[in-house]
Amino acid sequence: MSNSSVENLVIIGSGPAGYTAAIYGARANLKPLMFEGFQAGGIPGGQLMTTTEVENFPGFPEGITGPQLMERMKAQAERWGTECYTEDVIVVDLSQRPFTVRSEEREVKTHSIVIATGATAKRLHLPSEAQYWSNGISACAICDGASPLFSGKEVAVVGGGDSAAEEAVY
Ligand SMILES: Cc1cc2nc3c(=O)[nH]c(=O)nc-3n(C[C@H](O)[C@H](O)[C@H](O)COP(=O)(O)OP(=O)(O)OC[C@H]3O[C@@H](n4cnc5c(N)ncnc54)[C@H](O)[C@@H]3O)c2cc1C
Repeated sequence: MSNSSVENLVIIGSGPAGYTAAIYGARANLKPLMFEGFQAGGIPGGQLMTTTEVENFPGFPEGITGPQLMERMKAQAERWGTECYTEDVIVVDLSQRPFTVRSEEREVKTHSIVIATGATAKRLHLPSEAQYWSNGISACAICDGASPLFSGKEVAVVGGGDSAAEEAVY
């Protein structure tokens, strides 16, 4: 379905980056429209929807679960007027202005786009990986390194690039 009006700001992705853009955009009266995603490249709410405790987010001294944190980010974005659609973007046309963003359900024209589609951890696909994921195997040293689970233990870092070196230093 095509809407003839032109949006100020379309945000693609509903992880922390997408909701941060939505909150700032909405508070600047841009009336952002967000495609939260559905199943391509993640899930609505992003990677933190797949974790339990988040211990490093300022303002939550007791910690908060990933899904609760994302629910609060969404509520804050909506409170300021962000319009959210739980749909995957399948086409973006940047060849002419206004830009075009399309999902299976709708096509929107927009003056600007924030692409906040995030990233995913590259898993090793070991047989025991599912059992130990977030329980001994981590994809983020800064997120999990301070956990008592790793305290005093020898830790192996898999990989040899910049990210692996950074994680190893941490
Ligand atoms: C298990 C786990 C635990 C973690 N724990 C912590 C922690 O404790 N502390 C911490 O600081 N960090 C943690 N992280 C890292 C943190 O989750 C990421 O740094 C953060 O989520 C990145 O946010 P983002 O908004 O850039 O992207 P993401 O969270 O990856 O969100 C991407 C969004 O884009 C959407 N999307 C993708 N493709 C499309 C499309 N075609 N159309 C529409 N939408 C699309 C997805 O649906 C999703 O909503 C953890 C990560 C994992 C996997």
